[in-house]
Amino acid sequence: MYEERFDKRGFDELRPMEAETGIIPNAKGSARFRIGNTEAIAAVYGPEEVKPKHFEKVDKGIIMCKYDMLPFSVPDRAKPGMDRRDMEISDVITNALNRAVILEEFPRSMITVRVYVTQADAGTRCASLTAASMACADAGLPMRDLVAAVAAGKIGDSICLDLTKEEEDFHEGGATDVPIGFLPSKNEIVLLQLDGKVTKEELSRIVEMGKLGAMKIYELEKSVLQGRFSNESKS
Ligand code: ADP
Repeated sequence: MYEERFDKRGFDELRPMEAETGIIPNAKGSARFRIGNTEAIAAVYGPEEVKPKHFEKVDKGIIMCKYDMLPFSVPDRAKPGMDRRDMEISDVITNALNRAVILEEFPRSMITVRVYVTQADAGTRCASLTAASMACADAGLPMRDLVAAVAAGKIGDSICLDLTKEEEDFHEGGATDVPIGFLPSKNEIVLLQLDGKVTKEELSRIVEMGKLGAMKIYELEKSVLQGRFSNESKS
């Protein structure tokens, strides 16, 4: 049984969030997104010539994305270098961004996305995808929509939004984690993973809760980006 959340949040409540763009002057676009004690920064470069050349596509651009957890992002120091988890997360972020960025506008070119987790308390792939999507928009890339991403899941018998690491490690009854990436204006899911065991009916409740949470993240993303572009038009 999990009747009250460790941090006293409502079961459908997100952790406090913060977002900003333009944090890395030497990148074409950049963003920082924090949700509770999970924070990611993203930098976007390009479009530029594809290297290595054999990855080039004649009809559209490609995204090369790398996710990394900084050594100080976790209490026991993350091992430097890419492990299998980093590769998997880089792939799922790339797949989601492929649906968001209009790559047909950049044939034979490459967009590089680097995401670094500065603090990890679960949900880093979602925070990274949200930051990466904002950085793409900050870079002025044409997009079908922003990606808003958050994990939802089940702890004990309770369906919950935006799990912390402490919740993911819940022993009594176990925890299931479902990261969701959403293109709100298209009502399209671009990232969906499942770590744990739930029924079909529970999964649809989890996805619905995740989508509602993603809408709140989307509102924050839009307000930050609107502020950024209206400042630019004034200067
Ligand atoms: P996500 O961060 O997207 O939830 P995981 O489910 O793989 O992805 O990881 C859950 C959490 O476990 C991370 O957010 C982080 O808090 C912790 N974690 C992951 N990798 C490590 C690591 N190498 N060292 C310590 N903690 C880690």
